[in-house]
Amino acid sequence: MNKYICTMCNYIYNEEKGDTERGIAPGTMFLDLPDTWTCPVCGATKDKFFLSYDQGPRRKIHKIDKV
Ligand SMILES: [Zn+2]
Repeated sequence: MNKYICTMCNYIYNEEKGDTERGIAPGTMFLDLPDTWTCPVCGATKDKFFLSYDQGPRRKIHKIDKV
């Protein structure tokens, strides 16, 4: 399952969760959303969303200074 991020307001559409408040069942693929679906926060249309790659292998390198 993927996540898509709204480039207008950073809302994230999570395919695992869907958008149940607006009748989109959990597990609904972003590409299967009706074309009438818009961002619940800012109203942007689907073409304003981009795939979010937050599951990738990259990770933050965080050094902790020991006192
Ligand atoms: Zn938005």
